[in-house]
Amino acid sequence: MLKNRAPFIDAQLLDKLNMLRNGVFACKREMHWHFFQRVIMPSAMKTLPEQNLTSRECKVAVVIVAAGRGERAGSPVDGPKQYRLIGGKPVIRRTLEAFCGHPRVDAIAVAIHPDDDDLFAKSCAGFDRPIIAVPGGASRQESTLRALKALDELNPEIVLIHDGVRPFLDSALIDRVIETVSAEQGALPTVPVSDTLKRAGKDMQVEATVPRTGLFAAQTPQGFPFHPILAAHENAARAGRHDFTDDAAIAEWAGMPVRLVQGSPENIKLTWARDIALADHRLGGNMRTDFPDVRTGNGYDVHAFGAGDHVALCGIEIPHTKGLTGHSDADVGLHALTDALLATCSAGDIGTHFPPSDPQWKGVRSRIFVEHAVEQVMARGGSITNVDITLICEAPKIGPHRDAMLAELSDMLQLSSDRVSVKATTNEGLGFLGRAEGIAAIATATVVYVASPSG
Ligand code: MG
Repeated sequence: MLKNRAPFIDAQLLDKLNMLRNGVFACKREMHWHFFQRVIMPSAMKTLPEQNLTSRECKVAVVIVAAGRGERAGSPVDGPKQYRLIGGKPVIRRTLEAFCGHPRVDAIAVAIHPDDDDLFAKSCAGFDRPIIAVPGGASRQESTLRALKALDELNPEIVLIHDGVRPFLDSALIDRVIETVSAEQGALPTVPVSDTLKRAGKDMQVEATVPRTGLFAAQTPQGFPFHPILAAHENAARAGRHDFTDDAAIAEWAGMPVRLVQGSPENIKLTWARDIALADHRLGGNMRTDFPDVRTGNGYDVHAFGAGDHVALCGIEIPHTKGLTGHSDADVGLHALTDALLATCSAGDIGTHFPPSDPQWKGVRSRIFVEHAVEQVMARGGSITNVDITLICEAPKIGPHRDAMLAELSDMLQLSSDRVSVKATTNEGLGFLGRAEGIAAIATATVVYVASPSG
């Protein structure tokens, strides 16, 4: 049973929240849902004094759609875009802050992907407003309908439906939408289209210039009278219409008038990795907005000599009286380089990606390790600007093979040869290297990131 310690929820609303929560748990038992709706009661409630209680009904509810996978925003290793950090906070938290900080918002339902339960719980901890997490559906439209149904118990008058990845909405925009919604009409924030629009033919030749007059780009939050938009969504689902790209289009299909209100140019949807990086910069995320995000990584490796007639160094086979022992071709130069590249984006080390215990890497050419590290760097928005490898050995002589090594490295890194360096030194007869028991390598890589790996 949820305790009423919040300053803004009246007893009736709390009852409804409890009914909803209990109903959800009943559903979980009966239908064996592995994932279920839950009401997340904010931790702030535990400390607020009861004498601050005021009576308040749920008049304005919010649906936030955040169930997408967002593959366009970068590689899957970075996680869904709504949970990426911008200015040190997850995108979805900033979106929630905008609504939780608005005095007229009473309850919020967020449609999330079933796999994101833990991510979401962490991102929305500590808010002083009831937040209902709802398992999203296969499409944005289905996720929205599920969240609307979850709010039905609270009987709100109006609902604002918002994209989880639009974190830059302001209080004035929320006000404009709320004030325009009535029992008969929805409200749609828009910005005028400023670019000239062209329609392209099949071969990407301009077919026509589309007149811009009367055209607007739709944003969210879109506001609607609650029960009519819920009915419109249910009717659309029943009619097999799953092709609406926003909720105003469903209202339009259902015959509900929707009035345009002034949107905000700041209220952008974070779609691409670059959008997230720019949002992070805008919020001072890496605190170096005037400088490029240049990172340096280093790597070290050593392999012992064993039986053989050649050694692999920086991708080149060099005849020698011994070989190097190792699981792969034991190319110390490329192993150190792989670690240096991975280090620029905190992507672990060569052993993380290619465990020596895995037989599939036995005897392979180490070039594939470097190419994999390059992919990891590029997936995070990095451009390699230079690499430098120092080989440390008494023999064989490196000088005669240096140009071939530079050409090989230049090819595997897709980097001009003036950005690649190979140097060699002996260990002056000292230690295990000086006794010619093996070969060591030290590598440094410099990478400039456009999209912050953490953002
Ligand atoms: Mg190694």
